[in-house]
Amino acid sequence: MSNKKSFYITTTLPYVNAEPHIGFAMELVHADIIARAKRLQGFEVFLNTGTDEHGQKIYKAALNSGKEPQEYVDELSDKFEILKLDLGLTNDLHFIRTTENSHQKAAQKFWELCEKAGDIYKKKYKTRYCVGCELEKTDSEIENNRCILHPNLELEIREEENYFFRFSKYGQKLLDLYNNNPEFVIPDYRLNEIKVLIKKGLEDFSISRLKEKMPWGISVPGDSEHVIYVWFDALVNYISTLGWPENIAQFEKWWPVVQFAGKDQVRQQAAMWQAMLISAGLTSSKQIVIHGFLNFGGEKMSKSLGNFITPQDVIGKFKLDGLRYFLSREFNQFEDTDVSWNKLKELYNANLANGLGNLVSRIMQLAETNLEETPELPKEAIPPEFFAFLDKYQINKATNYIWQKIGELDVLIQEEKPWESKNKEVIRELVLKLYSIARMLNPIMTGTSLEIESLIKTNKKPEYPLFPRINA
Ligand SMILES: [Zn+2]
Repeated sequence: MSNKKSFYITTTLPYVNAEPHIGFAMELVHADIIARAKRLQGFEVFLNTGTDEHGQKIYKAALNSGKEPQEYVDELSDKFEILKLDLGLTNDLHFIRTTENSHQKAAQKFWELCEKAGDIYKKKYKTRYCVGCELEKTDSEIENNRCILHPNLELEIREEENYFFRFSKYGQKLLDLYNNNPEFVIPDYRLNEIKVLIKKGLEDFSISRLKEKMPWGISVPGDSEHVIYVWFDALVNYISTLGWPENIAQFEKWWPVVQFAGKDQVRQQAAMWQAMLISAGLTSSKQIVIHGFLNFGGEKMSKSLGNFITPQDVIGKFKLDGLRYFLSREFNQFEDTDVSWNKLKELYNANLANGLGNLVSRIMQLAETNLEETPELPKEAIPPEFFAFLDKYQINKATNYIWQKIGELDVLIQEEKPWESKNKEVIRELVLKLYSIARMLNPIMTGTSLEIESLIKTNKKPEYPLFPRINA
């Protein structure tokens, strides 16, 4: 195994105060696509996801529902773990929960390292706190005395003695990190966003809570009156999932990580977490890929607006590979996308029922009728251009490339009219080109890819449409 290349990719850990929505499904499926593509390229891959389970919001939600916090997070964590099956994720995915014993110990060890570096100190302070974000808010994040992201929640004013992390010390070190790695954050305008923030000057941030006010967290080492702040604890998952600090060999095999995260996570992932790593004496992450949000019917999805879509809703109407298709091609990876059921139906009918589905039926009908056997299939059927897109995490572009090939194949059929000529050479060429399309679909729509491959290998037309038209 030592000659194998290794690749580690993670999503953020969603906070389990609500059920998973389609935005998180996008992050997971995108990470899964990259993991599968890397495996096809001969890499050994570690794909990480899981659940973030401490903090005030969860503590309150548990109390409100009359449950013990542990019982409450167990139930919600199950709903996230089930995504593994529902989204067709690769089955050797690692799922970490921040309430696991080994993670708790890792978070405490990480704290001790930052403390040793002189980066943790105690201070009395007054703060404006958004329970929606589980974050203290600074002036630039407040509008009309409310958090910009949660205008429907009152900010809480808090005064207490907390431990602080010396974030202010890391401005230049972070700028050096970005300058030495111009693609550290993708897309580049997200990196610029964070550079602007840093140049304004960084403020130290609080990393503990008083246990008597909020007991649902990991104890601060050496101070039983405080628990570790939920963000500080959760970020450590990216290394605790590798067995750090117990299993250093495994940690070194996989680290550093490629992180997928939403656009509300730039500051935490690209700056706070990176400063924490430097403080603990660990190497920075490898890259951070930031995605946009999905809106529905022109509005941000939310339970209260009644426009909250789960991945299971989409799968119910369009099947798993319908969902994976939308997430890969039709939802803009880096910008926000507005979705509606009508638009999804149109895209499905045009590109899956008519586009891909029709193409497979036509070519395999010709093959079954005119060829005695499957033409010899090449070992390498995926063009390097396709992998080149995915090496840059450009999932939209990689999937567009496949549909470009589907379009070219449609044109070729129109020109050659093989149903009239019955030209076997032409039909063999069509089958080989379809095979290349099936192989490229493998990381993106795995079930469909395997189904097309199986039709090609048995030289049979499909007995039913791969993507039946949806009229309702
Ligand atoms: Zn907020």
